[in-house]
Amino acid sequence: MRLLLIEDDTALGEGIHQVLTRDGYTVDWLKDGASALHALLSESFDLAVLDLGLPRLDGLQVLTRLRDSGSTLPVLILTARDATEDRIAGLDAGADDYLVKPFDLAELKARLRALMRRSAGRAQVLIEHGRITLNPGSQRVTLDGEPVSLTPKEYQLLHELLSPAGRVMTRERLVQLLYGWNEEAESNTLEVHIHNLRKKFYSSLIRTIRGVGYMAEQQP
Ligand code: CA
Repeated sequence: MRLLLIEDDTALGEGIHQVLTRDGYTVDWLKDGASALHALLSESFDLAVLDLGLPRLDGLQVLTRLRDSGSTLPVLILTARDATEDRIAGLDAGADDYLVKPFDLAELKARLRALMRRSAGRAQVLIEHGRITLNPGSQRVTLDGEPVSLTPKEYQLLHELLSPAGRVMTRERLVQLLYGWNEEAESNTLEVHIHNLRKKFYSSLIRTIRGVGYMAEQQP
């Protein structure tokens, strides 16, 4: 689950970053609105936590421009205490939820889980690929109807490769999806995950495109 955190308060940002990373999210953190908008429009995230009071471009403008681009990315906004008008403007601009500062980090985690469930519910279409079925809502995967246990990163990788299958995914894109900008990935970590997926399913599931990346077999 790749999440973009946009917060200019260093102490708060560090707290959120730490807690969500520990929870298994891949967290990328930006501290101003202009860079955030650029990242949101050019890269893919599953979720964004957006502070409204930001340098260079305020959070409300970031959100408005994001929605104008047609994005349905789930966004939770952070607003200052008592700023009721901000909250209303944020929801009107297309925020999915909000938290008022100061808030409990446990509540933030619960709200994000709820947001993910809602957005998974909107797109709850099973991905069927031959013997494999993947349920984005529950994140359960089966092979010949039997559940297969995957780590969060293996799940994310398989989901990406199968939606849809037959596309060549570059190594860079997959590494960025799994690790974002901040987490240091060991140089062969992606290969290890691919190896594990082949072992847990079957080896012809994922083709190596030498010098480029990987693709899931087109016709299972
Ligand atoms: Ca702020």
